[in-house]
Amino acid sequence: MSNKENNEQLEIIRHSFSHVLAAAVKELYPDVKFAIGPAIDNGFYYDFDFGKDGIKEEDLKAIEKKMKHLIKQNLQFSNFDLQLNEALEKMKNEPYKQELINDLKKAGEKEVSFYKLGNFEDLCKGPHVEATNKLKADAFKLDRIAGAYWKGSEKNNMLTRIYGLAFESKKELEEYIKMREEMEARNHRKIGAEMGLFMISNEVGQGLPIWLPNGYASRRALEDYVLSLERRYGYKHILTPVINKKELFETSGHLSHYKEDMYAPIEIDDETYYLKPMSCPAGMMAYKHEPKSYRDLPLKIGELGNVYRYEKSGQLHGLQRVRGFTQNDAHIFCTDEQLTDQFLEVFELLDIFYKAVGFEKYTFRLSLSDEDSDKYVGKREDWIKAEDAMRKALKKAGYEFTEAKGEAAFYGPKVDIQAINVFGKEDSVSTVQVDFNLPERFDLTYIDKDGQEKRPFVIHRALIGSFERFFSFLIEYHAGKFPVWFAPVQVKLISVSEKHIEYVQKLAQEFRNAQIRTEVDINDETVGNKIRKATQEKVPYMLVIGDQEIDSDKLSVRERGSRDTVDLSKEELIDKIKRSV
Ligand SMILES: [Zn+2]
Ligand SMILES: [Zn+2]
Repeated sequence: MSNKENNEQLEIIRHSFSHVLAAAVKELYPDVKFAIGPAIDNGFYYDFDFGKDGIKEEDLKAIEKKMKHLIKQNLQFSNFDLQLNEALEKMKNEPYKQELINDLKKAGEKEVSFYKLGNFEDLCKGPHVEATNKLKADAFKLDRIAGAYWKGSEKNNMLTRIYGLAFESKKELEEYIKMREEMEARNHRKIGAEMGLFMISNEVGQGLPIWLPNGYASRRALEDYVLSLERRYGYKHILTPVINKKELFETSGHLSHYKEDMYAPIEIDDETYYLKPMSCPAGMMAYKHEPKSYRDLPLKIGELGNVYRYEKSGQLHGLQRVRGFTQNDAHIFCTDEQLTDQFLEVFELLDIFYKAVGFEKYTFRLSLSDEDSDKYVGKREDWIKAEDAMRKALKKAGYEFTEAKGEAAFYGPKVDIQAINVFGKEDSVSTVQVDFNLPERFDLTYIDKDGQEKRPFVIHRALIGSFERFFSFLIEYHAGKFPVWFAPVQVKLISVSEKHIEYVQKLAQEFRNAQIRTEVDINDETVGNKIRKATQEKVPYMLVIGDQEIDSDKLSVRERGSRDTVDLSKEELIDKIKRSV
């Protein structure tokens, strides 16, 4: 079977289960009113009106049992059509079904299709399986209940939605449940709270996270590494203001193209300012600050810029979708002959960085122009040069990549880099993009060898498109067990009792002097409790300090994920950590 046929078959199975659910509910709750029951991504649901008593999560067990019982009876799905007035008569006790039939009437329909399963008749177009022997009683599970408004409108009644999971086999169902548990365990908001990484408070503002000490410690380690890596590759760094004047965004074109994604303007002293949605316009001004010659190129200028973009509140999600974030954008100003080498260098940098954060797999996607479209700015010959250089660099680097014709932005072609998350899904983490718009709008130039003024090529290169989003990805990728170099706390010292506190404090200071992020737990609690806390915080090295450790020069070190301890001297441990950093 093809994938598509497979999916269609699965959808039929899932939808058929929703009828079985409704039939089971009808037997157990004769007065219930029925709404609708479609197939969804992982199974199915059905919306019911149970009256004012409703049902509870515990009731699902009995309903599930009833469903299994119905499936065993090998009931047939039989189809019949009715005239609309006959249908209304049949459904006279079903207000929601009546509304649906009346909707069909308004749409000019004459007849309505019904399916009967056991004692349950429902208006439905199908298709379904022929009979319940095609459904596996051990391949479904009722999942949960939730409130849902009739027709999705809060003006209507709140109904009870029963969700079920359904697959073709028991094995697939079990695999799905296992994957979902794993996903919940890795949820970045859950781990973020457990490890004290970040918080989001309504008083500060939605989508505006506060990086707590542990999260910020990790983030600084990542930032420092990125900046040092860029310096090694000849980048220089600047810092531009968070608010910029309206005129700057008129020049850049953001106010005509991007205004809906920007925060409302700030008026002061008869001038208008905007929170910057990107650092690029001010970055272009930094280039223009002094005249440039061909000897200055390629010029690579990076910035860790705080930017603000308006996202609808419904879209906001933990660190993944925020309104204020930090972008590691850089601009590479170069000539056309330098393009391929510059792309290659960016890919090399990406490679080093991704390996350091632990990514094993990532994919490349090249978004190109469509020569038949006239939506693009810039000269056609420059587009061809840039696209060829990108393709050449990707091939030279030995990457596999896909090409997407017509997917380029109006201002230039780009390469998107997608990291593969633990569940095999792709997530965009970096973008490398040529821009034919800003150099023109800002009239960027350099003096070439022949004394002529020329326009440089500009590459935007966001190694980390958003620190916030990237960090949420890292949390889920590593389930919070970060590599030592960016773990928030690298060593945790735990005192056994009161008399060991002084030694613990002294030792902690020695680790801090060696630039190791160290915390102590000297609370008056059991050692077992303190170990549990440090385990939850996912600290790479945990040291319990009692009489024995004070008397000898060995420390008993518990490594993350290990139940046993190893004996190391202080120097050996410091050396071990330094090497992994
Ligand atoms: Zn149906
Ligand atoms: Zn940029």
